[in-house]
Amino acid sequence: MTALRAAQNPDLVVAVFEKSTREGCNAAISSGSLPAGGTRFQRLAGIDDSPQKHAEEILAASGDEEWRPIVEALCAVAPAMVEWIADTGYPIEVGTDMPRAGMSVPRLHTDVGRQGGGRLMRHLRGLLGSYPNVAFVDEAPIVGLVMDAGVVSGVVVNQNGRRQRIGAGAIMLAVDGFANNPALVREYLGDLGNPYYGGVSTSTGDALTWVQRLGGRVRNMGAGLRSGLVVVDHGTRVSPALPFHGAVLVNANGQRFVDEERHGYSAMAGILQGQPGERAAMIFDATALAATRESEMMRECLAARAIREVATLAELAALLRLDVEQAREAVTARPGRRQLRQPFYLAWVTHGLLTTQGGVVIDAQGRVLDSADRPIPHLYAGGGTACGLAGPSSDGYLSGNGLLSAFGLGWIVGNALASGPVGRFAPPVRAADQPRRSATAFSKERHR
Ligand SMILES: Cc1cc2nc3c(=O)[nH]c(=O)nc-3n(C[C@H](O)[C@H](O)[C@H](O)COP(=O)(O)OP(=O)(O)OC[C@H]3O[C@@H](n4cnc5c(N)ncnc54)[C@H](O)[C@@H]3O)c2cc1C
Repeated sequence: MTALRAAQNPDLVVAVFEKSTREGCNAAISSGSLPAGGTRFQRLAGIDDSPQKHAEEILAASGDEEWRPIVEALCAVAPAMVEWIADTGYPIEVGTDMPRAGMSVPRLHTDVGRQGGGRLMRHLRGLLGSYPNVAFVDEAPIVGLVMDAGVVSGVVVNQNGRRQRIGAGAIMLAVDGFANNPALVREYLGDLGNPYYGGVSTSTGDALTWVQRLGGRVRNMGAGLRSGLVVVDHGTRVSPALPFHGAVLVNANGQRFVDEERHGYSAMAGILQGQPGERAAMIFDATALAATRESEMMRECLAARAIREVATLAELAALLRLDVEQAREAVTARPGRRQLRQPFYLAWVTHGLLTTQGGVVIDAQGRVLDSADRPIPHLYAGGGTACGLAGPSSDGYLSGNGLLSAFGLGWIVGNALASGPVGRFAPPVRAADQPRRSATAFSKERHR
């Protein structure tokens, strides 16, 4: 998103260095749900929402008042960003059937057809390819930052087994967090136990040490985006909307242990971790399945045969090792909630870690700050690299926060680069540092 927005200025040359699209990014395996309060899609659906309401709900969940300026800045740009993505030809709708804990109105925007983040990323990368001033360089991990007289002036890229230094007037660190770095996860998120890891392999927290060496800080490192919806032995996730259609959670002792609608999926992961066997049966019925099956999550579960059909209460009782009366009690609706009817559907769910939420300290313009809260010149961060919106605990994560932080900070930084004086900062690249010409990276040289 940073590149897409910065490229609006034809005088800028933009390069995206990507560790490996074969390994992939979390945005592409995400549900691709973009939260925004006050869009034209919501207005058309008669939904009364605003950036302020969105920001207050994120902050109510996180309790992280120190992060208010960043939350407000992201919520302020989210409607324009979502509408812009739609205007580039991406089929967007507001998910009126996507209720989420902590969200007072439908606010998640997603693709018509619910194919998820893969479709979104294919669209945005295709769009990036249409800009003559952008190079997308794949299989080219950044391994460090270049410093000139104490100032960040470029990146070190590993390409074809060779390290190259590349000068840049501004650098956006968008390399996600550290959920696939076992040492860092042990250090900061050891209390999560041994969760199923549901993210991509590339999230190894590469940028954290670069920023810390420059005097930057990290915060909220103990928070993650967790999921209490991961199906045991399959790794797929059931829909977070199920509890809003009457689904219940019953633990391995046959007990109900939580108000299913009350907690978001990240907080639910912690609750599941405390149950016998760190799992519970998510039980629902045909009505709940019909209401949720058009989502990439439920499609994947059904394709993987991760959901079991249970024809009768007696069969359910046998599966849960209960007698029929106990099973009846276990699926009895709370007051005011929908009562499930047989046949039932069942998936054993456990807790997983999808991404980390702690990261580098930035300001509302996405600038990386040093320990005295001064911007480190030319350096920006977003998405999982930056401190996220969940606050100090995984329980504070509100659905959509991840992509809001990734795309929203990309939008803010990219727009600023497109309209600012960034080109003037570009330091000369010394002859010895000149990268070997690569057709992909430098075919755009005429635009320099
Ligand atoms: C299963 C799942 C479902 C999710 N669903 C949602 C959802 O519906 N809504 C939501 O808001 N959030 C969701 N999230 C969270 C969301 O996907 C992430 O918060 C978001 O993608 C983070 O964006 P990012 O750009 O920081 O990281 P990514 O999307 O992971 O992108 C980072 C990129 O950086 C590359 N990279 C890493 N290291 C380097 C390096 N050294 N040099 C060069 N490139 C590098 C990676 O290869 C990758 O392409 C989900 C996450 C998961 C795992």
